[in-house]
Order: sequence, then C-alpha cells, then structure tokens
Amino acid sequence: MNTGKGHIELAGIGKSYDDGASFAVQGINLKIPDGSYCCFLGPSGCGKSTILRMIAGHEDPTEGKILIGGENVVGLAPVERRTAMMFQSYALFPHLSVRDNIAFALRVRGLSVKDRNAKADEMIEKVHLGEFANRLPGQLSGGQQQRVALARAAITEPRVLLLDEPLSALDEHLRIQMRAELRRMQKDLGITFIHVTHTQMEAIALSDIVVVMDKGHIRQAGSARDIYSAPRDRYVAEFIGGQNVLSGRISDIDKGTARLGGDTFGQIVVPLPEGHRKSKGEKLDIAIRRDDVDLRPVAAQPDLPPSATSIVGRVQAIEYQGNYVKVQIDAAENDDFVSFMPERKFYEAGLTVGDAVLAVWDIQHTQLLA
Ligand code: ADP
Repeated sequence: MNTGKGHIELAGIGKSYDDGASFAVQGINLKIPDGSYCCFLGPSGCGKSTILRMIAGHEDPTEGKILIGGENVVGLAPVERRTAMMFQSYALFPHLSVRDNIAFALRVRGLSVKDRNAKADEMIEKVHLGEFANRLPGQLSGGQQQRVALARAAITEPRVLLLDEPLSALDEHLRIQMRAELRRMQKDLGITFIHVTHTQMEAIALSDIVVVMDKGHIRQAGSARDIYSAPRDRYVAEFIGGQNVLSGRISDIDKGTARLGGDTFGQIVVPLPEGHRKSKGEKLDIAIRRDDVDLRPVAAQPDLPPSATSIVGRVQAIEYQGNYVKVQIDAAENDDFVSFMPERKFYEAGLTVGDAVLAVWDIQHTQLLA
C-alpha cells in the first residue's frame, strides 16, 4: 500500500444529519496517491465540499475512516493533520502586505521575523509575485490575489492542500491561465492537491484523478482520459459532456455484436464485450463521442466500411467553433445528437440546415453504459 505522506484513503466515509435522516455523502471509498492532483467534480449539492471539509478537519464524518499517510486523522485538528485549505474568497488580510499575508501563519507559529521573511520571500518567488511583495491585496488583480492565497496556504508545508472552487471568482481568460498555474504549483510543491469544482473542463485539464459525484455518491473515479473516453454510466457521460447518449433495445445478437433499435433512430450495431450476459429484448444505453461521429449527405449514397454503423437524421443546427463545427441532428432524445466535425471536413461535405445526413462511426468507438 502507498502510505506516502500525502497519500489519502477514504474508507467507507459517510456524513449524515438529523440522526441519520438525511445525508450529505454516503459509502465513499477512494484512494488518492501521494503527490497527485485530484478533482472532485459534480453539480451543486452533490457533497464535494463536505468531503473536502472532512479531509481538512473542519468537519468529522459520521462513519468511516480518513487516512492520511496511513494514519486515521478523524478527530484531529487541521494543524495536526498537516492539511491547508485555500478558500474561494481568498480571505486575505486587507491591511497586510503580500509578504506579511504570506508570512502570517509562520508568525502564529512563533517564527522570528528574520526566519519568516526568508521563508515568505522564497514562497513569493515560487508564485512569481516578487515585484508585488510590498503591495496590499487591494492593489492586486484577481489572479495575483489568488497566488497570494495559494502561497499563504502552502507556506505551512502541508502534506495536502485543499482548494474549494478556487477559480470560480475569475473571468474565463484568467481562469484558464490560473488553471495552468495551479498545476505548475502542484508539481513544484510536490504535494497532494484536492480541488473541488463543478466545471468539467477544469477537472479534465488539471487532474491526475477526476472523481465524478452525484447526490452524495461517487459515480466514477479515474484519470481524466478514462472518464472522458470511457464514462461508466449515463450520468457520467451526460455530465462530462462531449458524448451522444442513445438508448435502445437489443433486436438481435450475433457473435460479438448486437443490433440495437431505438425510438429515435433505426438499427445500429454495437460491440459486446467477451463474456457478456446481454440478451435479446434487453435495454441498452450507449455513448459515442461527438468527435467520433462523421456526417455524410444521404444523397451522396456513401459506401461505408464494414466496421461502421450509422443512423439517419436531418441537420437541425450548425455552430462554428473555430477548429471544429458543431452539427446537431434530430436522431436522439431532445434532438441531441451532435457531431463535432473538423472544420475542413465540414466545409468539404457542404452541409446546410435541413439536409438529410448519415451519421457514421466505427462500431469499436461505442461505449456501453452501465
Ligand atoms: P457541494 O459542495 O457539492 O455543493 P455540499 O457538500 O455543500 O455540496 O452539500 C452536500 C449536501 O449536504 C447538500 O444537500 C446540503 O444541503 C447538505 N448539507 C450540508 N451541510 C448540511 C448541514 N449542516 N445540515 C444538513 N444538511 C447539510
């Protein structure tokens, strides 16, 4: 077992209120390796912050254990756990300079002025705030304030740094810039970062581990690529986005494939894993990545390779996105079947709204959902 200093294990964690009548989270089991960047992702109210607060030591679980570096920390104060939290509001002291804000925790811990200034200056360099060391927080941009907040949390040398929606107060441009900075800081410091967000792309861009949550439970935990390219169920596929989710019934099974018929589309071919227990008449949910779907005009009567499957639809909407074009067709629930076509390919195909099209994909690119 990995018991590095920042290795975290959540073992059967639950948090309930009103003598168990309601719960914020339930049955949480997760291992987060030392030095990794982990994002808890989910809509508001799904229990992300509750987990963060329990790891931090601001709240205790009603059941289960939280192990940091192999030691159960339930009941210990944040200082004893060696965790530090960076809050959404940054909570900087407005009357203290950048240096004094960053050195504050060292003052509380009784370090001499000389020692704490030396450590603060080292940290100021790490977060690239050298020229702002003597400024007050009010004289800094949002992104700079955030770096101060991060430095202030990191100076205590925690083994785990917890970040609650750290980028939500920033405008989009800055958010993307700070996202990269957070990742760089995490690598530089070499400690475990746990970050809570409701923004899919933020989690995908930052994380070694993405934990997708729904109503107090973990739906899927894995690398960003796993979550995006192999969502486990309909909830994860729809929440992460970039996917077409189709529901149908199996009309036929032949060797390693099934024919699937739906209300909004005809018949498609779906691969089945070895040892599957699927049978005729069973309902199946599948996901196909939008960037795996190619569109061809039906009128062109295209020849399709045997490895392809297709559905027919009519183009409902076209949205230019720069490097790709988002084309929506009316072949799924709520007309929500979309192809992300590379820009050049889209213009070669010459599609317009109202055209009848074949939406084509390789059957191996189908993801079976639980
Ligand atoms: P998130 O961070 O994902 O938005 P939270 O962890 O803040 O979600 O909350 C998860 C659930 O727990 C919510 O339904 C919330 O209403 C509930 N909850 C949080 N704190 C309390 C409390 N003190 N008493 C009762 N319910 C609470």
